[in-house]
Amino acid sequence: MQAQGLYAGPVFDMARSQFEQVADHLGIASDERPRLLYPKRAISVSVPIHRDDGRTEVFQGFRVQHHLTRGPGKGGTRFAPQLEMGEVAALAVWMSWKCALADLPFGGAKGGVNCDPRALSRRELEAVSRRYMQEMIPFVGPKTDVMAPDVGTDETVMGWFVDTYSMHQGFTANEVVTGKPVGLGGTAGRRAATGRGVALTIGEAMKVIGLPPVGATAIVQGFGNVGSVTAEILSEEMGLRVLGVSDHSAAYFHPDGLPVAELIQHVKRHGALTGWSNELLTDPRELLTRPCDVLVPAAVERVIDADIARRLQCRILAEGANGPTTPEADVVLDQRRGEVFVIPDILCNSGGVIVSYFEWVQGLQRLFWSEDEVNDSLARQMFKAFANVVSRAQRDGISHRMAATAIGVEHVLLSKLQRGLFP
Ligand code: GLU
Repeated sequence: MQAQGLYAGPVFDMARSQFEQVADHLGIASDERPRLLYPKRAISVSVPIHRDDGRTEVFQGFRVQHHLTRGPGKGGTRFAPQLEMGEVAALAVWMSWKCALADLPFGGAKGGVNCDPRALSRRELEAVSRRYMQEMIPFVGPKTDVMAPDVGTDETVMGWFVDTYSMHQGFTANEVVTGKPVGLGGTAGRRAATGRGVALTIGEAMKVIGLPPVGATAIVQGFGNVGSVTAEILSEEMGLRVLGVSDHSAAYFHPDGLPVAELIQHVKRHGALTGWSNELLTDPRELLTRPCDVLVPAAVERVIDADIARRLQCRILAEGANGPTTPEADVVLDQRRGEVFVIPDILCNSGGVIVSYFEWVQGLQRLFWSEDEVNDSLARQMFKAFANVVSRAQRDGISHRMAATAIGVEHVLLSKLQRGLFP
């Protein structure tokens, strides 16, 4: 397949290589491949703001709508300093397979701005958020493309998105984003949904390999929304001991376990893990290879490379992040299939977008569910997707990633074939 210049870089190369392997496995004809892999639409905008010191600064904003064949685009908004089109496109591709695997009536999309939210004041962050949404108004909407949070954004940013979009429509249109504050039409259970979904899939994987949760051990990389909630549910609700955690600022390890609730309080107060302890500091890369039952990479892409994959001492690799494992590492993990049970990202972290779907449906109907209803429906949907992936992998003798991606790609392909090619 010809490379398209707009979508460059190591993260898009990962998505391409995963897709090519699955397309070979499924026997998809070479002329059908480009329209499955390359995005339908990619939008690049300037996001100018006044900094607090009076300077004008222009950031770059992106939104990639990978496909809209099965419904509106769906995917988060990432604020990160090095963000570029290729990475956003890869994340949009993964959203497509993720939504299709969970059988949600959405396409796949992703967006973001190349800013460092930690280096912006609250006023500057609001200006970036509002101007970005303003520039996206012609391209998004409850029936077109529905944004959500991702790395570097949260429900406050979603509130500004709703307001900016609604002010321009002349009426309140909460359904344009998900992951909103509950008072603005958000759903109960959305903030914890991704971490809850990660923990649910870990519970299922433990059943498959016959490992009781109580007393089992876990290490969690990333302590934002996904990592911290996962660590909390694993330790408070399922009885695991969390031996190690890390974020961009610090990594801690203790062989008897860490006090997760206290660490969450520390991050609430200080914004990051740094400063909690000097004695328990450890090397963040080495943390990934320490012995534990469950390793949860819940930060960013490409942290599990071939070297780490060879040295992993976990029994379950639960991918809370999007794209944490490189294709080279996948080759190693394929050889270690009997030792390490991989829960691939598009399955493991799909709880977020599944509850986003519930939020969108509730918003469109103006009818809201209890937290129990949300969590029960989430569990049902995740168990189904998990069982589909594991049985497909067994049936075809392929990895869980290959099985998950194959199911997603097949759904999208079928919808494209059923709709036909316009004109
Ligand atoms: N950013 C999350 C993800 O990567 C959630 C997306 C959504 O809810 O639309 O799955």
